[in-house]
Amino acid sequence: MKALDIINKKNNKEKLNYDEIKYIVNSYVKGKINDHTMSEFLWSVYYNGLSIDETVSLTDVMIKSGDVIDLSCLNKKIVDKHSTGGVGDKITLIVSPIVACAGVCVPKMSGRGLGLTGGTVDKLESITGYKLKLSRKDFIKELETVGCSVISQSETIALADKKIYALRDEIGAVDSIPLIASSIMSKKIASGSDIIIIDLKVGASAFMKNIKEATRLAKTMIEIGKHYNKKVICVLTDMNTPLGRNIGNSLEVKEVIDFFNLKYDKRLYELSVYISSLMISTAKKISMKKAKELVINLIEGGHAKNKFNEWIKYQGGDIKNLKDKCKKLIIKSDKKGYLNKIDSVKIATLVHDLGAGRKKKSDRIDYAVGVVLNKTIGDKITIGDTLGTIYYNKKVKDMENVFKESFKIDKKKRNVKKIIIKTIK
Ligand code: URA
Repeated sequence: MKALDIINKKNNKEKLNYDEIKYIVNSYVKGKINDHTMSEFLWSVYYNGLSIDETVSLTDVMIKSGDVIDLSCLNKKIVDKHSTGGVGDKITLIVSPIVACAGVCVPKMSGRGLGLTGGTVDKLESITGYKLKLSRKDFIKELETVGCSVISQSETIALADKKIYALRDEIGAVDSIPLIASSIMSKKIASGSDIIIIDLKVGASAFMKNIKEATRLAKTMIEIGKHYNKKVICVLTDMNTPLGRNIGNSLEVKEVIDFFNLKYDKRLYELSVYISSLMISTAKKISMKKAKELVINLIEGGHAKNKFNEWIKYQGGDIKNLKDKCKKLIIKSDKKGYLNKIDSVKIATLVHDLGAGRKKKSDRIDYAVGVVLNKTIGDKITIGDTLGTIYYNKKVKDMENVFKESFKIDKKKRNVKKIIIKTIK
C-alpha cells in the first residue's frame, strides 16, 4: 500500500476501506509518513468528506492506537458527559457531583483549553492541591467510593487522535464533521462509558456555527456510538452568549461554589439541571420528569454540594484556597436600554488576552484572571449600572472599551435565545 494512492483515491471522491484508513493513520503514528503527507490526507478528507463507514473505520483505528479502559469492574451504569467547548462552560463541575449523588458513576477525563474556549483541567488546576493525575487504581477507587472523578485525559488513550488533532490544529483543518466526530468518539469510547451525553455547542464561539451543521455532527456521533453499542445523546445548546456569569479559571470554580450555595444564573441552572437529568434518566431508565425532581432535590437539599466538596477533597483540592490573586476593574454602563447580546467571541478574546488561555501549548496561564458579568441578556440597563468586573494582573489595551463593546444595549428588547435548542438521540 502507498499513502499517495490512498490520498489520490480520496481526492477522486472514492470510498476508502478499513485497511487503507488503518494504513495511513498507523503509518503517521509510527513516523513512517511525515506531516506534509498526512496534511494532504487530512485536507482531502476536509474537502471530500468521509462516509459513515469510513468515519467508523477512522474512529476504530484511533481507538485501537491507544489503551482502552475497562470499567466493568464497577458494576454500575457509567455515564460520561462531553462538551464540544464553550465560553464560561463549567457544566462538568456541576453535573458530575449531582449525577454521582444519584448513584450513577461519572468518570471524566477532561482536556485543557482549546483556542478561545476554556478547559475543565485548567479550571480544576486553579484549586490549590487538586490532583489531575491519578493511577488507574486510584481512579477506580474514587469512582467506587465518591462516584465521580475528574482527571486529565490519559496520555495513552487514542494516541493517533492526539497526533492528528495537533496537526489539524496547526494546518487549520479542525472544523470537519467526520474528523471532529471520530476525534471525540475515539476518546469517549476508549474511556469505558456505557452512555455518552454530548453538550454540542452551537453559535458564534463554537465549532458548529449553525443548527444544520451541528445536527449533522450529532447524527454522525450517534451512528458511531451504535457501532460500539454505546448510547449517545446530543444536546444542542446555544453558544452565542457566555454560559453563566464568570469566565476565567478560578472565577468559574467560584461560580460553581455559588451554584451549590443556591446562587445561580438562570441559563446555567437550566442547562445543568437538564444535562444532569438526562444522564440520570438514561442510566436509571426513569422518566425525565422524575430525574428532574431528583436533581432539584439533590441541589436544594445540599446533597450535591456535599458531594462536590467530597470529590474535590478526595483529589487533594482545597476549595477555600483558589489561585485567585489579581486586581479588579469595575465597568459601568454609559448607555441605557435592554441588553440584547453579550458577544461571546469578544468576551472570550478579552479573557484569553488577559492570560486565562494559551496561545501556544507551552504557555503558562493565569488562573486568577477573567471577567464577571453582572448583567445577562434581556436585562434592563440604566446609565451607571455595573455591567461587570475585569479581573487582571496585566492590563490589555483598551480593555474597558472592549468589555463595554461586547454588551449590545438597544432601545427595544429582543427575544432571548433559548439555551437548549434540541436533543437528538
Ligand atoms: N474536540 C475534540 O476532541 N476533537 C475535535 O476534533 C474537536 C473538538
